[in-house]
Amino acid sequence: MPKKQSNKTAPSEAAVTGKSARTPRVPFNIDRFVDTLKTHYHNWDAPVITLIASHGGSPFEILVSTILSLRTKDEVTAKAAKRILSKADTPAKLWTLDEKAIEKLIYPVGFYPTKARQLRRISQILLEKFDGRVPDRMDDLLALPGVGRKTANLVLAEGFGQAAICVDTHVHRISNRIGYVSTRTPEKTEFALRDQLPPRHWNIYNELLVAFGQVLCRPISPWCSRCPVADMCPQIDVKKTR
Ligand code: SF4
Repeated sequence: MPKKQSNKTAPSEAAVTGKSARTPRVPFNIDRFVDTLKTHYHNWDAPVITLIASHGGSPFEILVSTILSLRTKDEVTAKAAKRILSKADTPAKLWTLDEKAIEKLIYPVGFYPTKARQLRRISQILLEKFDGRVPDRMDDLLALPGVGRKTANLVLAEGFGQAAICVDTHVHRISNRIGYVSTRTPEKTEFALRDQLPPRHWNIYNELLVAFGQVLCRPISPWCSRCPVADMCPQIDVKKTR
């Protein structure tokens, strides 16, 4: 007797294994993303550290300005950096200022009393250990007070022209929103980017994403309706857009 044919369809792999079926992920076209941002960059303000570097800022000026920029808006950083660097553009000159004088010059950057103390101490260390120069090695930079990976990478990239990826809040947020990385912290983002971002994009990536993040891909309610890369963005974890 012929076997009765069942009308049931075969169970899916997901039903058999209990695992959810995987959809193959299309690789993110990072070249197109970077190239598109480059074509729009002239519409946005360059980040303050890029501007200082492009005007011939020394590694010490980049280091001081980057420390001032932490938790501080670019326009406030730019003015404070100009004030202090016009008085003290070398470690030797900065060391002659006392903490109160430095505080006065850098006010109102965020955490200005702490930064004044750190800047003076950094000047002392540079004079004592590095012959008054900013070191060009990551480990030496990280040993300076108040210098984390973000600052060290920016000094290496903008101050010394080395290949480095500086991951700040904009780079971390946008790289995750577009789905290029999936990370919880800026430090993990840096290492994910070091793995997968082609080296030709390393030094421009921060500059582009900071400018883009300040104007369009804002932390809260990004301007997705005006975004030049909206067609490639899955808007991961974006709750509200404009
Ligand atoms: S579409 Fe929106 S979330 Fe995605 S990159 Fe553009 S502004 Fe950012």
